[in-house]
Amino acid sequence: MSVIKDKFGRPLQDLRISVTDRCNFRCRYCMPREMFGKDFTFMPRKQLLSFEEIERIAKIFVQMGVRKIRLTGGEPLLRKDLPVLIEKLASIPELEDVALTTNASLLERMAWELKAAGLNRVNVSLDAIDDAVFAEINDSSYKTNTVLRGIDKAQEVGLGVKVNMVVKKGMNDNQVIPMATYFKERGITLRFIEFMDVGTTNAWDFSQVITKKELYDELSKHFSLEAVNSAYVGEVAKRYRYTGSATEVGFITSVSESFCSSCTRARIAADGKLYTCLFASDGLDLRSILRSETDDEAIRSAVVCAWQKRDDRYSDERTEETAKNRKKIEMSYIGG
Ligand code: SAM
Ligand code: SF4
Ligand code: SF4
Repeated sequence: MSVIKDKFGRPLQDLRISVTDRCNFRCRYCMPREMFGKDFTFMPRKQLLSFEEIERIAKIFVQMGVRKIRLTGGEPLLRKDLPVLIEKLASIPELEDVALTTNASLLERMAWELKAAGLNRVNVSLDAIDDAVFAEINDSSYKTNTVLRGIDKAQEVGLGVKVNMVVKKGMNDNQVIPMATYFKERGITLRFIEFMDVGTTNAWDFSQVITKKELYDELSKHFSLEAVNSAYVGEVAKRYRYTGSATEVGFITSVSESFCSSCTRARIAADGKLYTCLFASDGLDLRSILRSETDDEAIRSAVVCAWQKRDDRYSDERTEETAKNRKKIEMSYIGG
């Protein structure tokens, strides 16, 4: 197998697949209700890739060197029969890791089934431990307790668990220390994500970003931290551990310290479009190719061609101008 590299020599190593554009939350920074209200038209079912189509594509990507697949959305647990898809993916021999990113609202009831299907890990998104702050962010009726019970259950059934928290100035900065304290006590890795200018609906402004440095300085007032080396090239989070323990805390610094030079990730949206960057404005229509081609080789060449042409480095080049004016696809569509 020859490694496929893009214009900057970055290999194609991991794949994120969005399985739905729907969500039961309306996080204000991702799917604000004003934009994603009752009248919003989500993708009709026949536009979504079927499980068989996803499996076929996944096998082709694995043949090309991908070893990790993460399912995302929208909210992936809303996709009917998701464990059936997980089982299909988990049985691809060379695939080492099948993971899921979720808001965990349905995790408590699904954790066992997901684990039994072959899921390895979940990243749970939770931006606050306080119910009032959480309600303000997700703009729906879910309580933190539902998410926390989902996390407990996932651990109980043996899934790897990490928690991701987007931090936005004025939204949940007062939750940083309570979240760190809660997850430190439970030995769960918490990762802080800088608020990003994905999509065009979240009214992003640089003044709302709390940078890794600010977060680190705040945490250091309460905890002693020591740096941990990256586990592999292309690892996105900057890792630290609480001194004297094995529990880690991480930072995903897309805005303040971009990591495009080691970005090895492709994304497939729920309608089968392939994107080579989270901030792309257009992608390759893999669904049409899949539905018209019986030969896997044609799909493989289309993907190779897209990856070899790839010169994305949006975060390296971000300016106020690109953040505000560039056309970008929405996070709930492409999957985080
Ligand atoms: N619904 C699932 C969830 O929330 O985990 C999966 C999809 S969601 C789009 C994936 C991740 O993207 C979540 O952790 C979410 O917090 C993050 N996200 C969404 N909009 C973001 C933004 N503007 N900046 C940073 N992270 C964002
Ligand atoms: Fe839904 Fe996840 Fe977006 Fe929140 S971040 S609205 S849970 S897709
Ligand atoms: Fe990768 Fe695009 Fe993010 Fe850079 S901006 S790290 S190329 S997804």
